[in-house]
Amino acid sequence: MKNPYRKTKIIFTVGPATQDEATLERLIHAGVDICRINMAHADHAWTREIIRRVRTVCKRVGRHIAIMMDVKGPEIRTGDVPETFELEKGEIIDFTFGQGIGSLGEDGVRRVDLNYPGFSKDIKVGDTVLVDSGLIRLLVLEIKEDQYVRCEVIIPGPLGNRRHINLPGVRVNLPALTKKDEGDVDVGVEEGVEFFALSFVREPDDLDIFHRYLSDHGSPAKVIAKIEDQQAIRNLEDIIKASDGLMIARGDLGVECPFEDLPIIQSRAISACIQNTTPVIVATHMLESMIDSPIPTRAEVTDIANAIREEADCVMLSGETTIGKYPVECVETINRIAKRMESEDGPVLREDLVLKLPKSKMLRSAVSLASELEDAGVVVFTRRGLLAQKLSSLRPNVPVYAFTDNNDVFSQLLIMRGIEPFFMQFDSTNPERTIQNAFKALEARNWVKKGASMVVITNVIAGEKIIDTIQLREVE
Ligand code: PEP
Repeated sequence: MKNPYRKTKIIFTVGPATQDEATLERLIHAGVDICRINMAHADHAWTREIIRRVRTVCKRVGRHIAIMMDVKGPEIRTGDVPETFELEKGEIIDFTFGQGIGSLGEDGVRRVDLNYPGFSKDIKVGDTVLVDSGLIRLLVLEIKEDQYVRCEVIIPGPLGNRRHINLPGVRVNLPALTKKDEGDVDVGVEEGVEFFALSFVREPDDLDIFHRYLSDHGSPAKVIAKIEDQQAIRNLEDIIKASDGLMIARGDLGVECPFEDLPIIQSRAISACIQNTTPVIVATHMLESMIDSPIPTRAEVTDIANAIREEADCVMLSGETTIGKYPVECVETINRIAKRMESEDGPVLREDLVLKLPKSKMLRSAVSLASELEDAGVVVFTRRGLLAQKLSSLRPNVPVYAFTDNNDVFSQLLIMRGIEPFFMQFDSTNPERTIQNAFKALEARNWVKKGASMVVITNVIAGEKIIDTIQLREVE
């Protein structure tokens, strides 16, 4: 059966172009699943206001989307400068710490502050410093610990306020979760966001620290690891195991690693996530040209199609929806590409997954059964979301309708490829009524008709025991 819904999920980043209620409403109607708030550019009052606004619009529209707070993590930035200036090729510049705000030193060398004093300890002579996504390239010439790092400009360019610094291959000793991040996370926890994304995750410990912080603060939110540098790639498999989801943050990754490695990293990360039952997001520059243009470039169409063919769970929009002129058109563009790509006949489910648990094998059988029946789908009842998550990782070519009676789980299912979540109270005294209610919900959307076959995965009480079952049912 062809899916009546889009399998690939869409994340958009909210910003000045999309923060008003009318645009949020159009985006939700167009089919976004998750709203991302980038804390690199958001203050607390705005963040709280946006979260509440999104919730209000969802209620009005009658469709819930989840919120993902993206925290900055260990990021190095330049300080303020009196005005943007041109760094010339061959020029010498000193990075200082709390000393010179874009001023000249006694020796006539221009000084620019960095927000991280440990920089002079982490870096060594001969290392590369990249500013502003690699637009400016510098070579480290001399280091005076805690005082300055002297660099030569190799690729020139304009330097403005608070520019992002990348240090390819350098282990930065900033904490995984900075004080600023903790303050941001507290706001997210208070406002009940469903996902946090942590920038520059370098090792599994970073995620353990974050998970501990959330559990100490009573949050059930899931943690998405943003992989953005070479160390994260070296620790990829362990990071995937320690996270609840992975974001392939291609912006920074393409600066920290040779950009020709990006497609290989993307394929490897998607496939490792699917193996591990971990949702995976492909992010950045998916429709960059649509910041200014109403139509995508052919290369962008192919890039999105490729992420869908590789079976990523989500694709993500950043600048396209924060400052772009065509945010709703971007979502419609992804809808069109996803519909076309997902209509291509593929295998019933992924053949390459190693399934160890009997329960996983049972889910595989349920998908195989549904695929052999005409117009059949799978209905799964899930309290913790785990069955739905495993079903998603099988990448089935039949619809999977996941019913949960837990609000947090409902939101968390919004990130999983191929899973259409429903929130519904379960009738614990009468499981049959729960199944019939699920069928009614599907009929109400015109997604199933009377007489259709459904493969239902649920547990039933058998004497003293609760047992897992696959039931072949007809919609009455
Ligand atoms: C990226 O670098 O691709 C990314 C998503 O991170 P951010 O937008 O937070 O820089």
